[in-house]
Amino acid sequence: MKKELKISKIEVFKADIELIEPFRISLMEFTDAENMFVKIYTDEGTYGVGEASPTSCITGDTQATMLGGASDLAKLILNKNPLDIENRMREINKYLVHNSALRSAFDMALYDILGKVAGLPLFAVLGGHKRLFWTDNTIGIDDSERMAQKAMEYKKRGFEAIKVKLGTTEEEDVARIEAIRNAVGDAIPLRTDANQGWDYTTAVATLKALEKFRIEYCEQPVAHWDYENMRRVRQSTSIPIMADESVFDEHDAFKLTSMGCCDYLNIKLAKSGGIHSAIKINAIAEGAGMACMLGCMMETRLGLTAGAHFVSARPNIRYADLDGHFMLKEDPIIGGAQWKVGEIHLPDTPGHGADVDLDFLKKCEVITIE
Ligand code: MG
Repeated sequence: MKKELKISKIEVFKADIELIEPFRISLMEFTDAENMFVKIYTDEGTYGVGEASPTSCITGDTQATMLGGASDLAKLILNKNPLDIENRMREINKYLVHNSALRSAFDMALYDILGKVAGLPLFAVLGGHKRLFWTDNTIGIDDSERMAQKAMEYKKRGFEAIKVKLGTTEEEDVARIEAIRNAVGDAIPLRTDANQGWDYTTAVATLKALEKFRIEYCEQPVAHWDYENMRRVRQSTSIPIMADESVFDEHDAFKLTSMGCCDYLNIKLAKSGGIHSAIKINAIAEGAGMACMLGCMMETRLGLTAGAHFVSARPNIRYADLDGHFMLKEDPIIGGAQWKVGEIHLPDTPGHGADVDLDFLKKCEVITIE
């Protein structure tokens, strides 16, 4: 029998990337992506790369907690078989609850190694094929006039759908959508995301008022813990409801689907702790007759490429919201998926096919565990 592969070294990089402009959602405003890259090496010289983008108000990760936690996770899996992802992720998930963005970086790097060892692109490792799909582009919360201008710009650039951040007041949110719909016309789908900004009463009133504007769906109308009111909101509007901050793992997916809280689930690798759990969430949704979206945080093309492979391999992922890198001032990634406006083209290289530029990594603080 062939000798078992072992994890020989792990490097963790503190990666700061400025945003082109501040991005506001109902929960907070972002000015830069305080990300982290992880490189997991094997004793045969192969390595896998993963990325985490912390969103403290959603996943509980900050860059500082990720860098601290990464050393612990690295020690936990050092000298073990990277191809046994089932056991490595069980160990990681048992050791560290919440902090799902950090866990997803390790998961992503392990799947990258699996693909490289198998000589297969990640979509093939996941048992899928390469399919062409597209992402929307997202507009952050602002005044309605500026949001309408941005929507016009996205439409002119050729995006096939526009996602609009909402979640302040009924009056402001309806004015935003009215201004955007008037600017872009009726043809382009508008997706909305309240990011938990409404209570039950505001959610019902706002969504009722938005029904005439052809809204494809609304993400997370109420607080992440408020399953019962999400279910009631869903019953009171014709706009489909998508759970986002309410769904982290397969256990949440099971509860949301069986309680009838939503029409769709928004899977993000940064919430599920990576592909290992994303597979299970999607399977539960599919069992419940429910399609999913694959969303993102403020990842570079590396994290987004891993997500794109998952979309490609799973036809039940109907929507993609893989636009985080459009907000970043730099693209430090070599290889990986390419975006032609909103259309996403995956590479055929083994693993996820993306790597971080060494010149960029040289500028990053690094922690080495071996
Ligand atoms: Mg969302």
